[in-house]
Amino acid sequence: MSSLPPEALANKLMSGKDVSQALLDELKGELDAMKTSGAKLPKLVVILVGEDPASQVYTKRKAKVAQEIGMASELITLPKTTTEAELLTLIEQKNDDPSVHALLIQLPLPKHLNESRILNAVSPTKDVDGFHPVNLGRLLSGDTPPALPCTPAGIMKMLSFYKVPISGKHAVVIGRSTIVGKPMSLLLLSENATVTICHSRTKDLPQACAQADILVAAVGRPEMVTADYVKPGAVVIDVGINRVKNPETGKTKLVGDVDFASVSPKASLITPVPGGVGPMTIATLMANTLALYKAQ
Ligand code: NDP
Repeated sequence: MSSLPPEALANKLMSGKDVSQALLDELKGELDAMKTSGAKLPKLVVILVGEDPASQVYTKRKAKVAQEIGMASELITLPKTTTEAELLTLIEQKNDDPSVHALLIQLPLPKHLNESRILNAVSPTKDVDGFHPVNLGRLLSGDTPPALPCTPAGIMKMLSFYKVPISGKHAVVIGRSTIVGKPMSLLLLSENATVTICHSRTKDLPQACAQADILVAAVGRPEMVTADYVKPGAVVIDVGINRVKNPETGKTKLVGDVDFASVSPKASLITPVPGGVGPMTIATLMANTLALYKAQ
């Protein structure tokens, strides 16, 4: 991917929309060439159990982006009453189906399903989210698997696109989930950042965050990170997607974990919400599907 012109940097925004579009264009070019050559196409299967409204939006968006770039995809929606045995049987079928290269189980799952048992059932070779213990173990041991967890891997792509120096810098990650915080910390560490991981028990969080050259907020608390958390000139990555209701209009809007209004004047670069990390996560999912296809 080529970098944006310097004028684009002047406004401080790290546009996940622009970077993801560049990545998707690249992937589309590769898929078009495969089609022309008559090669079999990579296929992504997404399984959604239940009717969680946010998950419905995410899975439809994934299927739409796949279609736009010419990737084969299938969205399987199952009722929320689906039993664990039924879901495990379906996963086994997809694991054994040679036309399927990437398999994603949309989270969160309904409460009666054991999330780790389900995720562990996905073949590590088709684990497009990189959540299988084998792939997380490979990430930990430095033996990079073909598909890294999409959100942190997308953030690394964005940092690289904007030429943000990482080596020797102090990165602070707020959040220690397996989906975002932990893999994010490992990826920054693998690029030689000095990494601090913060969480709900961290004492004096603003003071810990104010040490960061690169601050990643993956908390799930609307606009929690205010200007006092941020060192002047820091690069701020806002992973949060929070739906908040305007009490006056009753309308909901999306906000991040970062208070954009107070933080953006202090940051050297910052991701917006929406249009920041979110689009990168989906584009990375597509890149991961192609990577798994090639690895198979
Ligand atoms: P989790 O709820 O799994 O983890 C949240 C983390 O934040 C936990 O480690 C928790 O600490 C920590 N935390 C919670 N409250 C505080 C606090 N007051 N101070 C410090 N730390 C706190 O969330 P996820 O990692 O799954 O997601 C985080 C956010 O990112 C959410 O808004 C989610 O919607 C969004 N998201 C966005 C994606 C995208 O593509 N843009 C993809 C995935 C997630 P502890 O461990 O101690 O409980």
